[in-house]
Amino acid sequence: MAFILSPLIAIPFAIAGQAVGTPEAKPQAIPVAGGDWAYPLSGAYSKGRGFGYNPVIGCSYCSTDHLGYDMAQGCGATIHAAGPGRVITAGSFYGWGNSVRIDHGDGIVTLYGHMLWGSLEVSVGDDVAAGAALGAEGNTGRSFGCHLHFEVQQDGVAIDPQPFMAEFGLPLT
Ligand SMILES: [Zn+2]
Repeated sequence: MAFILSPLIAIPFAIAGQAVGTPEAKPQAIPVAGGDWAYPLSGAYSKGRGFGYNPVIGCSYCSTDHLGYDMAQGCGATIHAAGPGRVITAGSFYGWGNSVRIDHGDGIVTLYGHMLWGSLEVSVGDDVAAGAALGAEGNTGRSFGCHLHFEVQQDGVAIDPQPFMAEFGLPLT
């Protein structure tokens, strides 16, 4: 009997151990790291869709070719500027919902999508530093649950945020 029972007992523990959806510990995730650039969310977060082909199961209006990197701490979590620059969008922005875009110069623009309506703490024309509070995580626009859509554009074309941020010593994992 012991041989039959042990796998059955082990299964619940194995599932619990996966901790699906639980934010991972990121000890280096502080708003400003390295002085110049920062994580857009401070502290532990859950990773959502990465860059590239990533259909959302159960969401017909969500894009399949994902142009950003999704991360979530929970509705209302503070979103931070990833780098220093000037705010060029603060408000409703197409399918990204309530959004902020920051022009960092050298053709680099970051976009923070799906923020809560009424949560923005910056306006167009503001100069912000890395780590500045922009607004709160939400579910506006073409979104499927509260999360931050973090997008990096180079000369108007979306690029993969992971290697981009890794160059600043800020790996998105
Ligand atoms: Zn996204």
